[in-house]
Amino acid sequence: MKLYDMKINELAGITYKCSCGKTHSVDIDIVDISYNAMRNAAVYAAGNCDGLITVICDENTYKVAGKAFIDMLNDEGVQNMAHIISGRNGLNVAPNDACIGETIARINPETKFFVAVGSGVINDITRQISYKMGAGYIVIATAPSMDGYASVTSSLILNNVKESIQGQYPRAIFGPIDLLINAPYNMLTAGFGDVIGKYNALREWQFGRDYKNEHYCPEIAQLVENVVDKCKKSAEALRLRDEGAVINIMEALVLAGMAMGLYQNTRPASGAEHHIVHYWDVDCIRRGEEHELHGNSVGIGTVVICRLFDLIRDELPVPVKNVDGGVIIDILKKAGCMTTPQEAGISRELFKESILKGHTMSSKFTILTYLSKEKPVVLEKVAEKLCNEFY
Ligand SMILES: [Zn+2]
Ligand SMILES: [Zn+2]
Repeated sequence: MKLYDMKINELAGITYKCSCGKTHSVDIDIVDISYNAMRNAAVYAAGNCDGLITVICDENTYKVAGKAFIDMLNDEGVQNMAHIISGRNGLNVAPNDACIGETIARINPETKFFVAVGSGVINDITRQISYKMGAGYIVIATAPSMDGYASVTSSLILNNVKESIQGQYPRAIFGPIDLLINAPYNMLTAGFGDVIGKYNALREWQFGRDYKNEHYCPEIAQLVENVVDKCKKSAEALRLRDEGAVINIMEALVLAGMAMGLYQNTRPASGAEHHIVHYWDVDCIRRGEEHELHGNSVGIGTVVICRLFDLIRDELPVPVKNVDGGVIIDILKKAGCMTTPQEAGISRELFKESILKGHTMSSKFTILTYLSKEKPVVLEKVAEKLCNEFY
């Protein structure tokens, strides 16, 4: 059986000798997206931890899931405590030095195991703290909002700079379907946008392979493309919070995370559409402001990079597969996602700068790397053109 034929729970814990020449593995025991997932998480935690469990939530996730989960841990007879992280200065909880520092100061040092109850931010904080304390952790996902569940790194804001910091995989990912379906709608669109961004990520991986002879894994690429295609068909149903649509998105997000783990690199799931978003986010953080949810911006970034490819197609040194920007806008709109940088509060100046300097956000080869190195005049012109089209 090829990687791309496997179901998500068949991929959990796998070691696979691949046709691309590499051996891929994912160090996650279980992915459980089901109505019983929260109860199953309590049973898993009870069976895998001998000692104190600390449950990390924010105020919202404590209300919608944390409290019920703690009752379940009590039913299992497990020693536990909860830590609820609160935001500061009127801002939401963020994976920053303040929230991480306060959490460390308040948790019990006897903690043997952690449970993150939340999505991106709570997962990133718990991953980091559990890793540094030498304890394992699991996550109960409260929203299908980003692809960082199955990841080894945490995206943290340290001293007002966003950095990717080494951490560990969760031992298991639990996605209680009733929670995922009822997540705030902007989190559902964010998950959808992050998934749609993979079309450009895969295109640029192919570009890297054909132009720079970069290593490429056709099985992982196919695996990601298959789940993204499946999600694409769920755009309209997502608006109705259709169960199947929400499950497809959650599975695609976990799988995209696993694909990065299998490949030991973010290559299969992120490209220039992510780099311009990082540029926007860094700017917001520097100004002490909150930025749009990651995936909502990534959907917009995908629209922008698709248009950029249309405008410079004749400048490409090798054939690069086409991703139809019109179709991408259509799908995003059907799901109720944002499609323009204004909707995310991005100014024209910042937008232009992100096109010109987005390549500095990562060493990964993308269309922005290519243009800045080989065709800087074209890059300058296309940045101006995109500004005129989007603003
Ligand atoms: Zn992403
Ligand atoms: Zn491979």
